[in-house]
Amino acid sequence: MRLNPLHNQVGGHDGVMSMGDDNEIIVKPCLAQELEFYEQSILHPELKAWMPAFYGSLTLARQVNTSTTSTEGTGQDPSTSMSVDATTEFSLPAITSLDGIALETFGHKVSTSSTFQSKTGVNGETMSVLVQESSSTTSKEDLCICLENVSHGFTHPCVLDLKLGTQLFDDNAPEEKKARLAAVAAKTTSGKLGFRMTGFQVYDQEQSRYIKYDKQYGKSMTEESVVDGFRLYFAAKLGPKRMKLVLLRFVNDLEDFLEIIKTQELRMRSSSLLLMYEGDRDAFDEGLICEQEARAKAEAAIESEDDDSDEEEDEESSKDQKVTDARLIDFAHSTWTPGMGPDEGVILGVTSTLHIFKLLLEDFNQ
Ligand code: ADP
Ligand code: MN
Repeated sequence: MRLNPLHNQVGGHDGVMSMGDDNEIIVKPCLAQELEFYEQSILHPELKAWMPAFYGSLTLARQVNTSTTSTEGTGQDPSTSMSVDATTEFSLPAITSLDGIALETFGHKVSTSSTFQSKTGVNGETMSVLVQESSSTTSKEDLCICLENVSHGFTHPCVLDLKLGTQLFDDNAPEEKKARLAAVAAKTTSGKLGFRMTGFQVYDQEQSRYIKYDKQYGKSMTEESVVDGFRLYFAAKLGPKRMKLVLLRFVNDLEDFLEIIKTQELRMRSSSLLLMYEGDRDAFDEGLICEQEARAKAEAAIESEDDDSDEEEDEESSKDQKVTDARLIDFAHSTWTPGMGPDEGVILGVTSTLHIFKLLLEDFNQ
């Protein structure tokens, strides 16, 4: 089982990883609070539909072997991080909490007794892992959640992490952190608009590269300049027709999401909307065809009420290319709060984003 650094990550902490044949599973170090939030999401199906699929948790036993020969001569400090060229052991003691059914649908069979070992690239592209059953106790930082990789299915995704809410801290955060994050909200668009562009990337097809905008850029945006910030996110050279479609879809998504969020009793602190659209023209069009085929298939299945259509699907399944996607991520500081009503700061964030997206749509309505 190989863990790779996550591609297409636009914000947050280092150390988010992916695994699977096609890196379709995210493995993210998490706090117990986030794991709990995902576990409890089963009781909130309307919101769960907006979250990445949750496959369970695993624990990385980070027993970096400092005397390992594999670090010799590389000039790397074996204890600096998990992605250095060291033999690192990962264990899966929490394997019983892995959702076996979900994992199997991806063709993965994670066995508790399997042991794997592979080498890390010096640049940290691929991690050197030894996965084995563990009996050791685990520390907080080793806990990871396994999630659907939302960028799976895109060829060159343009990704935006949009942090929602006016209050970015947990009520039980230390006073110092509360004060610091309250100041950040006041100085950025979070305070007045209820959102902040955290980080984003846009694919430039002509130059075959991504243009990336970091957290500092997002923090520097004002109420006025943020509209142009979004224009940069929607700057992939797909032509007006495709860009209009992207915006229309996001407007529809946000309208649906807004209705849902008004019915949910929770406090989201520093959670994000993760928006993606395909930045490669051919892949974009292929995605539209995939969607049409999927619709036709679904209709045919309803008509024939045929139960053994599975095999056919497998034969035909070309690559499932996506066009757009919009999800809610990052629940490290979010909690379900029954009886407390909806999160007004998040409602504000979605409302003001919708407003701006509708404004941007006019760019394409000459
Ligand atoms: P942090 O607490 O470090 O902010 P996040 O959950 O926000 O953690 O993840 C950091 C980044 O990783 C996000 O900005 C996004 O780019 C990427 N990411 C996180 N979860 C997913 C996912 N399920 N699918 C695709 N990308 C993800
Ligand atoms: Mn985040």
